[in-house]
Amino acid sequence: MSFTLHGLPVSSGIAIGHAHLVSHASLEVSHYILPKGMVQEEVNRLDAALEKTRNDLTLLHEHKPQYAAAEFDAFIDLHLMILQDVHISQAAREMIMAEHCNAEWALKVQMDDLVMQFEAFEDSYLRERKTDVVQVVERILKTMGGQDGHAPPTAKHDVQPIMVAHDVSPADLIQLKPQQFAGILTDLGGATSHTSIVARSLNKPCVVGLHHARELIKDNDMLIVDGAQGVVIVNPDKQILAEYRLRHSQLELERQKLKRLKTSRATTLDGTPVELHANIELPSDLDEVKDNGAGGIGLFRSEFLFLNRDTLPDEEEQFVAYRTVAEGMNGLPVTIRTFDLGADKQLKNGTKRVASNPALGLRAIRLCLAEPQLFKTQLRALLRASVYGNIKILIPMLSGTAEINQTLNFIAAAKVGLDIDGLKYNPSVQIGGMIEIPAAALSLHAFTKKLDFLSIGTNDLIQYTLAIDRTDDEVAHLYDPLHPAVLHLLSHVITGANKAGIPVSVCGEMAGELAYTRLLLGIGLRQFSMHPAQLLASKQRVLTTNLPEIATLTQRMLRASDPMKIRDLLDKLNA
Ligand code: PEP
Ligand code: MG
Repeated sequence: MSFTLHGLPVSSGIAIGHAHLVSHASLEVSHYILPKGMVQEEVNRLDAALEKTRNDLTLLHEHKPQYAAAEFDAFIDLHLMILQDVHISQAAREMIMAEHCNAEWALKVQMDDLVMQFEAFEDSYLRERKTDVVQVVERILKTMGGQDGHAPPTAKHDVQPIMVAHDVSPADLIQLKPQQFAGILTDLGGATSHTSIVARSLNKPCVVGLHHARELIKDNDMLIVDGAQGVVIVNPDKQILAEYRLRHSQLELERQKLKRLKTSRATTLDGTPVELHANIELPSDLDEVKDNGAGGIGLFRSEFLFLNRDTLPDEEEQFVAYRTVAEGMNGLPVTIRTFDLGADKQLKNGTKRVASNPALGLRAIRLCLAEPQLFKTQLRALLRASVYGNIKILIPMLSGTAEINQTLNFIAAAKVGLDIDGLKYNPSVQIGGMIEIPAAALSLHAFTKKLDFLSIGTNDLIQYTLAIDRTDDEVAHLYDPLHPAVLHLLSHVITGANKAGIPVSVCGEMAGELAYTRLLLGIGLRQFSMHPAQLLASKQRVLTTNLPEIATLTQRMLRASDPMKIRDLLDKLNA
C-alpha cells in the first residue's frame, strides 16, 4: 500500500531506497516485585549493566570513526555524564532497595523524572537533551537484555538503505558509516536535536518528527525521502518513483555544478554586490565554511561552547575558541554573538525557578546583564581575540535603549579592565544588535543611533510577532515568514537601516531559504548569513536576480494582505 508521511525537514536532498528498521529497546518495561533475598542481586545486575554501558561508550570514544563529526566527542562525553548522573544510577539503586522493584523499572522511573526536569528548560536546544537521557537509558536497557546496539543494515535490495528509527542517538548515528545509509527518518526529534545536527553534518536527506513512521513502515518497504519538503513516500507507484529518480539525478548534477561557484563573487545581474556569510555553532565548523566559499561568519552562536558540559568555559578557553575562528577566517568578518542562553540552563541542580513562559523569560542579553560575571568574562575573551582577526560582537534579544546602553557600558568597562591588565584588544571593534523582538524592530532608531550594525533573527522575530512557539510542532503550520506583519517589520528594519547607513543582515533560517532570497533582495537586503551548505545555492539565486526587475513585485508583496495573493506574487518573483 502506498502512503505519504509528513515530518520536519532537517537535511535536504532526495533519497530513494528500501527501509531498514532500526530496532530500539522497548521503554515499556515491565514492573515486578522481586522475590525475597533477590534485591542485592538486582542491584548487582544494574551495576553490571551500567559498567558495561560505560565501557561501551568509552570504547566508542577511543575508537572514534575517522569520519566522525566534530560533535562526536561531546556526544559521548554527554552520554557518559548522564550515565554517571546520580539521578540515574544512584537513584535507581536506591529505588530497587527501597521498593524491591526490578532494575528496568527503577531506571525507567528515574529516566521519566529526569526527562521532566529537562522539559522545563527554557532553551529548546537544552530541552532536547532529554532525548540524550532517553538514549542513554535505552542503551543500558539493551545491555540488560543482552542486546547489542543498532545492528548494521540488513536490507538486501540496496547498497544504501534508508534508516527508519523511532529515535536514534547521535552517537549511534555517527558510528554508522555515512555511506551505509541513503537517508535518515525518525519519529522523534526536533530541528535542533543532536541527531538532526549530525544528520546535517552527514549531508544525508533527513526528516524527523514523523511520529509513527517506525510503526507504519515495514522492513524493505520502498521509500522516497524528500528532505527539503519533509515528505516520505512509502511504496510509491512506478510513475512517482521514476519522477523522483529523475529529480534525484538532477539534484546531484546541480550539486556538482554549484561547486563551480565557490570562488565567484555574489553579484546580481545588474551588478549589485551581495555578501553571503555563514552561521556556525563551533570553531570546528570552519572547514565547511571555507569549502562553501563564505564571505565571512555572520553568526557564531557562541552559546554552543556551553552545551554538553558541566562547567562554563573560562576566559582563556573562550579566548582560544574566538581567536581560532578569527584567525581561521584570515581577516574576513567574524560576527560572534554573545551567549543566547536561557535562565535555567546554567542553574545547578534545578534549584532556580522554572519560567512559565521560557521564551519570554530571562534569556540572552537579559541573562547576561543579570549575570555580570558571565557577561564580563565573555566580553573580555571576545575583545582579546579581536586583535587576531576581524571580530564583530553581536548582542542577541535586545529590546530597546536601556539594554543597549547597559550593554555598551559593560563593553566599555571590559575595555578599561583590559587596559588595567595591559591586555590588547581592538578599540574600535564593531558592536551590533540582533533585531528579533518586534519592539526592537519598531524602535529601530535607538538601534541605528547607537550600534555599528544590525542582524535580523527571523526565527525569533517571527515567533514573537505571530506568538507561535518555534519549537512546538503543533503550531508549526502557523509559523509563517510571509505573514504581512512579518514582511512589514522586515521591510521597516532593512529600509530604515539602509537609510541610516548601518549594515544590516538576516541570520535567521529565512536567509538560507531560496524561496525568500529574491524577496529579501527586493526589500533591500545585501547581507545574508546561513548554514554553510546553503551558501552556493543562494549565490546562484543572487547571480540570476535582476534587482530592477523584481522591484515592482516586491513592493506589491509588501502592500498585499491576502496570504494567497502574497504566495502568488512570491511564485512570480521566483519564476
Ligand atoms: C534567530 O532568532 O533568527 C537567530 C538567528 O537566532 P537563534 O536561531 O539562535 O535564536
Ligand atoms: Mg534568536
